Parts: sequence; C-alpha cells; structure tokens
Amino acid sequence: MEDKLTKVYDRETFFTVLAKHIVTVHDHKTKLALLVIDINHFSHINKQYDYSIGDYVLKSFAQLLFNAKRSQDYVARIGDNRFALILVNIMNTGHATLAAQKILRLLDVHFQIKDYKISIDATIGIALCPLHASRATGLLREAEEALSIARKHDKSIGAAISVNDDELSEHWDIELDIEEAFQNRQFKIYYQPKFSLTTKKPVGAEALLRWKRRGQFVSPDIFVPIIEKTGHIKPLTGWIINSVLRHSSRWTKKWGPLSVSVNIPPDLIIKLDLKDFVHNAMNLWGDENITLVLEILERSFVDDTEKCFQILRDLQSMGVQISIDDFGTGYSSLAYFKLLPIDELKIDQSFVFDLNKDEANAKLIHLMVQLGHNFNLKIVAEGIEDKATFERLGTMGCDVGQGYYMSKAMPEKEFGDWLETFAGLEE
Ligand code: C2E
Ligand code: MG
Ligand code: MG
Repeated sequence: MEDKLTKVYDRETFFTVLAKHIVTVHDHKTKLALLVIDINHFSHINKQYDYSIGDYVLKSFAQLLFNAKRSQDYVARIGDNRFALILVNIMNTGHATLAAQKILRLLDVHFQIKDYKISIDATIGIALCPLHASRATGLLREAEEALSIARKHDKSIGAAISVNDDELSEHWDIELDIEEAFQNRQFKIYYQPKFSLTTKKPVGAEALLRWKRRGQFVSPDIFVPIIEKTGHIKPLTGWIINSVLRHSSRWTKKWGPLSVSVNIPPDLIIKLDLKDFVHNAMNLWGDENITLVLEILERSFVDDTEKCFQILRDLQSMGVQISIDDFGTGYSSLAYFKLLPIDELKIDQSFVFDLNKDEANAKLIHLMVQLGHNFNLKIVAEGIEDKATFERLGTMGCDVGQGYYMSKAMPEKEFGDWLETFAGLEE
C-alpha cells in the first residue's frame, strides 16, 4: 500500500519489498543497500510555518527521492519524517554512498512551496545486505544506527561499519567447527559441469568445495574466507588440486578431453609456491586428456605483480590454463589487462542472471566477449539458469557455460555417472 500523503510505499509495504529482495540477494549472491533518510529539524518547519506546509515538504521530498532513484529501486515513508530507499543489485558501500550524495546534492536547491522558499537538509544512514545484516529488521536497525551515529558526529552520511553481533558470534562458532571439520575430513569436492555453448556437450567441470555443518551445507562464500584466515587454506587447496587431478583422470572415456577448474585464493599463487606444487601433482596424477584450469581473481595481482605473473607464465608453459573468475566485478585497468598471462575470462554471474531482461547487461557481455576474443581468450559464462540465457549466450559468442540450467554441482561419483549417462540437454 502507498502512504496516503506522499504516495510512496508505506512502512508495511517497505518491509514486504525489502524481505522479498533479501531472498534474491541470498539466492543470487548480489548485494542490496538500504538508505534511511531523515529530514533534519522537521519539527521546526512545522512550527515555523504550519502543518500544511510541513505536508508539502514531505510530499516534495518524497517526489525528489522518487525522481532520484533508478527504476529498479524503491522509496518508502517509514516514519513521520523518515524515508527509506532500497537499492537493489549494487556492488559495495561506495556505490550506496554515491546515491546518498546525489540525494543531498539535489537538496541544495530549495523547495518553492506557496510563497515560501524552504531549504531542507537530511541525514542518511546506509547498511548493506548481506554485509551488515541478513534480515530486513536487522538491516533497518543497522541503517538507523548508522544514521544516528552520523548525526551525533555532525555528518550528513553514515554507513554501518561492522557485521552485527549475531553474525560475529556465528563467525566464531564456524571457526571453531572448521578446526573439527579438518580433523574429521568433512570437506568434500563437488563438480559442476561446464558445457560448450556451440556443441551443447559437456567439456569439463569446476571443482567446488562443500561442507556440511551440523547437517546443513554452509556456503563456501562464508566458510572459505574464514579458512583463508586460518593456516588451513594452503594444505586444503593442495589437497583439492591433487584430488581433482586424481578424480578427473577417470572421466575421459565417454567425452574425451576435459578441463577441470580449481579456485585459487589470491594469496596462494605466491604462498603455495603454486608452480612446484602443481608440477608435482601433475607428475603424480596428470593425464594427457585433462587440462587443469586455475581460476583466480583480479585482486590476486595487487601485491607482487611481477612475481605473480612469472608464476602464472611458468604454469602456462606446463600446459595449465589460467582463468579470471568473476570477471567484470574487479577494478583492473585495461592498460594492465593486456599484460595478464591468462587463457580465459569467466564472466561474473551478476551479468548473466538478468541477461534477457536487462539490455545493459547484454551490452556489457557483448563487450567482454569482444575484448576477450580480441586477446584470444576463451569466454566462459556462469550462472546460466534457463534455456533462453543458454541460447542467447551462444549466439553472443560465449564459448563455454555453467549453471543450474544444465546442472548443479555433484559429488565425484555422481558426476562420473552423470557424464557416462548424459544424453543431451532437455529440449
Ligand atoms: P565461483 O568460483 O564464482 O563459483 C561459482 C558459484 O556459482 C558456485 O557457488 C556455484 O554453485 C554457483 N552457481 C553456478 N551456477 C549457478 C546458477 O545457475 N545459479 C546460481 N544462483 N548459482 C550458480 P558456490 O559453490 O556456493 O561457491 C561460491 C564461491 O565460493 C565460489 O565462487 C568461489 O569463490 C568459492 N569457492 C568454492 N569452492 C572453492 C574452493 O574449492 N576453493 C576456494 N578457494 N574457493 C571456493
Ligand atoms: Mg570459480
Ligand atoms: Mg565466479
């Protein structure tokens, strides 16, 4: 329902919309920002003029927010002089801050109401889901808290800074359980098929780590960063590389040569001594029909760029391929791009999910395909959830695809059986 006075959403609808989008955030691993916006000294306006002018100010302010937002965002009035803006699909706090600054800039111009010129200013609190809270009520609390801290310090914009206490204690619990998980060998490797978008046949798999904690899977997005902070990520990644080479050599009977990808955390390229490690693992388990692909992130190169590049070049000379994961979300410049020793770009899922609804994403994918092909790179798209997206990416020139439309990740044995019996994608 809409708020009677300002015609934007009311508080109740705000909660419904927020909760709905939070589900999408969790399903699609995107981010959402909540901005809570207070008109400062609103009671003075009411006192100085009269209530009807106060109402006009609220209406004009709601209109200003409505005009300032992008079409996919939402505005609501959640208190007397308090408004909320839900920004969907944003990258980070920086983006949300830019939106807040835009609103404040628009307020530089006074409102003309009847014969009065009324200037107002506002204070804005920002919180991100899932960074600061993973539920609607918690997110609102975080944004309101950020707002009141900003006001106390005489600032017009404040962002929540830390994860909330619940998440923090959950983090510690997980850390303790991770110790036990190592001792009890609870980590498993699952495999998600990769498909050629031209032949529509399987061409390989990505190895993805799985951990069942107290009977429930925990997302690697949560536990991998925790493991990265412990000393365990090095032996764990070593174990994954060895296991993947060992498992995959059993799969090539039906489909011939395959490629298997392993995710490598940024620090480890140098720290694991990746070159020697992979060399030894390939000596033990290597198979001429298997190409090992290492998926790395753009931020891997930030420190010690030259040393990192040298290791990657050495790996390439051993027949290992290097892929940039989550491409399009990093910040490396194009000048730097031409130097990267890589074989493949893996377009981030956030561009792929809405491909057929969001033409801007389609244009960006187009650009990434052209860029990649001009540098002789293979283009992989991940997050393909339906047939239409699969087909479209094929016509756009993407080479390989991965996603729930074809299959989720499976345990090793199941993946082997799946490969043996796979008879084609459903028409
Ligand atoms: P990633 O490397 O970008 O992996 C792709 C993620 O997208 C996987 O999530 C996969 O299950 C998911 N995915 C694939 N197709 C679809 C789809 O159609 N729809 C949706 N909604 N999701 C899809 P997962 O397994 O939860 O892994 C998340 C991230 O955790 C990975 O992102 C990677 O960064 C990290 N990770 C996973 N396994 C490992 C590992 O063995 N080592 C390291 N260092 N990181 C890992
Ligand atoms: Mg990956
Ligand atoms: Mg990815």
